[in-house]
Amino acid sequence: MGKYFGHATCVLRPRTTQQVSEIVKYCASRRIGIVPQGGNTGMVGGSISLRKEIVLSLGAMSNVRSFDPVSGILVADAGCILQSLSDHIAPHKHIMPLDLGAKGSCQIGGNVSTNAGGLRLLRYGSLHGNVLGIEAVLPDGTILDQLSVLRKDNTGYDMKQLFIGAEGTLGIVTGVSIMAPPAPQASNNLFLALPKFDNVLPLYQQVKGQLGEILSAFEYIDRTAYDMGVKHGLGPILNLDEVGDAECFVLVETSGGNNTHDEEKLNILLESLMSADESLINTGVLSQSPGQFENIWALREGLTECVQKEGKPYKYDVSVPLTDFQKVVDQVRERMISKGLYGDHGITKVMGYGHVGDGNLHLNVIAKNGYRPELEEALEPFIYEVVASHKGSISAEHGIGSMKTDALRYSKSDVSIQWMKKIKQVFDPLNIMNPGKVLP
Ligand SMILES: Cc1cc2nc3c(=O)[nH]c(=O)nc-3n(C[C@H](O)[C@H](O)[C@H](O)COP(=O)(O)OP(=O)(O)OC[C@H]3O[C@@H](n4cnc5c(N)ncnc54)[C@H](O)[C@@H]3O)c2cc1C
Repeated sequence: MGKYFGHATCVLRPRTTQQVSEIVKYCASRRIGIVPQGGNTGMVGGSISLRKEIVLSLGAMSNVRSFDPVSGILVADAGCILQSLSDHIAPHKHIMPLDLGAKGSCQIGGNVSTNAGGLRLLRYGSLHGNVLGIEAVLPDGTILDQLSVLRKDNTGYDMKQLFIGAEGTLGIVTGVSIMAPPAPQASNNLFLALPKFDNVLPLYQQVKGQLGEILSAFEYIDRTAYDMGVKHGLGPILNLDEVGDAECFVLVETSGGNNTHDEEKLNILLESLMSADESLINTGVLSQSPGQFENIWALREGLTECVQKEGKPYKYDVSVPLTDFQKVVDQVRERMISKGLYGDHGITKVMGYGHVGDGNLHLNVIAKNGYRPELEEALEPFIYEVVASHKGSISAEHGIGSMKTDALRYSKSDVSIQWMKKIKQVFDPLNIMNPGKVLP
């Protein structure tokens, strides 16, 4: 993003959990701050050294420790890249329970530490359910071995849950045990253009009703984001004449056990949408080949990188009720117009896309000519206030990092923050573990 710049004095790349433990003990004895770093794909400045802390990169810890093709349980070093884990288990006909655009660089330890959501959450649920155990080095160097391979274990406090989404503030995750679901026998997708945003919710209801258990993703892309993707070579997916003045687009994915059955369901859905008297869509396409399936996903997954090509992005990743998705985008655009900050001299695009099925909107505000303090002042805390007014969350999946520490209060009560601080104090009384992140 070109927004965060590190000030690390050095980068250490341990190869074993024992080495991590020794580094942490040394740092604790001298009160040296440590920033755990995975694939460095995080969006909120969490893996960046703010005040000359050392960076502890997990990149050299990249061994798969075990995979059981019967139970689907995978145990791996934290530094394993998500894509390599997918490749490792693919021959055994399993998939990772999470998938995201950054899969070629992000690491499983980073995914766990950010509680990454991504494109499969609708179907397979969050990491709080899929992670069975972790191994972590605590801020005094102790190794906490909770690398369970059990699906059921009700023996008191479930400490691993604290590390899922802790963003490296409680310790360093060095190993992960995770449940990988069987690979679907058939995957299909459908790309739809909608005349107006108000149709998204009824469409979601209809899609859920008709596709039932095979629905695995329901992704939303507004018109600005779609046009940007096409401009950067990610389409067009649909015939431009038929798209007409569509306000937004939806990608529907199914994953099931029988291709003929799934295709039939999708064809019936598309036909019923096309032939309805007051159709919810302008047009749509059902992928006819693996290549077209990939192209449709490439558009959705490639948006994050297209945003970078348009200018400097202010990125907000919020949860709001489905009915309010587009309202939030519009309110932000109107705000920038009313402040005289919209146009070539300021913000050139405000767009939204995201995982509608999970109520998660990626709001991107692009400054063509770079970040400027007056732009940020107009956006924050305004956006957080808007999100709070819709009873949403200021971070649906990217986390708090160093970007949103002051905004935490918009989504967490004073009592929650107090108890988060107490937990941090118990684990890390010297405040050496990723200082300045998450907590204000
Ligand atoms: C193109 C693109 C698409 C993305 N899509 C999604 C998406 O759909 N859903 C989503 O949730 N996120 C998404 N992200 C954000 C990001 O990829 C995720 O947050 C990812 O889980 C971060 O993993 P990482 O290994 O890169 O972690 P890093 O960026 O290196 O670190 C993130 C945070 O975790 C901490 N950390 C990293 N590794 C460890 C460890 N082993 N132990 C303790 N702390 C650690 C760091 O200190 C930091 O606070 C996307 C990013 C990009 C660039």
